Amino acid sequence: MSFFASLEVEAYDRQYSDRELAVRILTYLQPHLRRLVLIAALLAAISFTGIALPVLVARGVDLLATHLSGLAIGLLSGGVLAAGVINWLANWWRRRLMARLVGDVVLTLRTDAFRAAMEQDLSFYDRFSSGRVVSRITSDTKAFGEMAVLIADVTAQFIQAAILGTVLVLIEWRLALLLFAFLPVLFLTAAGLRRVARVVTRHGFRAIANVNAAIKETISGIAVAKNFRQEAAIYAEFDEANRQSYRVNVRRGLVLSLIFPTMNALGGAGTGLLVYTGGLSVAEGLVTAGAWYLFVASLDYFWFPVLNLSAFSAQVQAGLSAAERIFALIDAEPSVVQIASKPVPPLKGDIKLENVSFRYSEQEQVLRNFNLHIRPGESVALVGHTGAGKSTIARLIARFYEFQGGRILVDGHDIRTFDLREYRRQLGIVPQVPFLFSGTVADNIRYARPEVSDEEILELAYRIGEGEWLEALPHGLQTEVGERGSRLSMGQRQLVALMRVLVQRPAIFILDEATASIDPFTEWQIQQALNLILSQTTSIIIAHRLSTVKAADRIIVLRKGEIIEAGSHDELMALGGHYAELYNTYFRHQSLEYVEQVGAWKANLRPD
Ligand code: ADP
Repeated sequence: MSFFASLEVEAYDRQYSDRELAVRILTYLQPHLRRLVLIAALLAAISFTGIALPVLVARGVDLLATHLSGLAIGLLSGGVLAAGVINWLANWWRRRLMARLVGDVVLTLRTDAFRAAMEQDLSFYDRFSSGRVVSRITSDTKAFGEMAVLIADVTAQFIQAAILGTVLVLIEWRLALLLFAFLPVLFLTAAGLRRVARVVTRHGFRAIANVNAAIKETISGIAVAKNFRQEAAIYAEFDEANRQSYRVNVRRGLVLSLIFPTMNALGGAGTGLLVYTGGLSVAEGLVTAGAWYLFVASLDYFWFPVLNLSAFSAQVQAGLSAAERIFALIDAEPSVVQIASKPVPPLKGDIKLENVSFRYSEQEQVLRNFNLHIRPGESVALVGHTGAGKSTIARLIARFYEFQGGRILVDGHDIRTFDLREYRRQLGIVPQVPFLFSGTVADNIRYARPEVSDEEILELAYRIGEGEWLEALPHGLQTEVGERGSRLSMGQRQLVALMRVLVQRPAIFILDEATASIDPFTEWQIQQALNLILSQTTSIIIAHRLSTVKAADRIIVLRKGEIIEAGSHDELMALGGHYAELYNTYFRHQSLEYVEQVGAWKANLRPD
């Protein structure tokens, strides 16, 4: 998939002028200037020693025809040997240098692209698929490196061909013309065959991409497929894609296998022509036998550059547009812009939103002159229907998105003046579906503070439901959580995410509460963890459960980006407004069972 995805255009893509692109590429080459100079010198050495071989042998043939001295032959053989050895050594050295150079440039490019991707705001990932960003960092940088190698190889071959061409013209211009006249035929045939190869290769890739897509979708949705007993249908779908890929790729193989024999036959025809006309020229005394040999042997030296030239422009174009895509990612403007980068003092968590206006896109104004004051240590539950703006408020406070109007103050400081990294370090954020990294439970808990000891984690863990949740894990803190935490239940993942915040001890806690229902016992444990956090920090909770709503100091009821009610549960119920309606339609029956069961457990402490 990434192969084609990488060719698609994104909104942050831009067109660089050839000059800009060249300057930019040069800045990546600049640190390796010495290596580049050495490579150029080696290229010259390779070219000279490369053509010295046929020229010396041709000279030997001429000597054979006239006077044959042992010394001359010895010198010539020595020269051929020396040229061969120097050519081999220079080539080996150049390839080593090139491999290092390309490796270093690709490494820097990839690092820059990855850093740029890491620094982007969340709004960037809202708009652009992460898969495509990945392909820019991996495939595009690779394509750029391949282009660099190709340019070096083709340049070497061309310098060599140009020098040899000059020598040939000087020896016998008519034969040289005949040889050069043959080259366009070679070029056009190669270009034509390459076009055919490109079409079949593209079809081949597409067919393989289909197979990949079929496998990927099935594997990621395997649980659903098994649930609905769809194995046979899925297999049939995969089988069809697989067979099609087989047919297309066999055809590709057949076409590709024709290319080299055809080009060889053509080369043979060219050699035949030169042997014939050259032979006639020798017979007529126009050229020496050695020169004739040189012409016949030279065909190969023109062969490779011409073959490569037919592919050159397409590959260089591909490499350049890959470079353009990487630079576009590196240069993508962040939408969250800090106006200063002040150090952040330890925060108390006094949060003030003053006349904040915000929209994600041009179409819809989400917040209009929004005001809210959250006092230090206070816990606030945001409630309201989906789309009311609860998450938006949390995201703005976390500075994930840039707001268009008003101010957000934390402890009296405008959050746009903070050093963003330091500010976020004092935020503890738990998203609706907590993300756990592969590793152990302990690794995940100490994510924000790696230095925390196992003892401290255990002490905290036992304050939640007497540590029962930890005992339920097969290896306690050392349990592997699996990819994205897949080996833990939803409730356990939430507990680990909350533990992470407890260990972190942030000044401001932001929770997007999970909507998925959990068994009452786990819910009770989660509530205990939450209560611990709420007692320590200023908290903003996008609440979906009655117990959480009730635990908050203040409930803020939102509708279409506006606060329509605020107060405690009892006050709002007495008001009989939107909250009371929400309570009756949504919260009330949700937790009845929970309240009863928790009452029972509290009475005899341990559930069955
Ligand atoms: P809530 O959390 O109360 O469900 P949100 O704050 O997520 O509501 O959404 C408020 C409004 O903003 C909705 O109309 C929603 O469609 C829109 N919205 C939310 N997230 C995005 C986004 N990433 N891009 C564009 N619009 C969004």
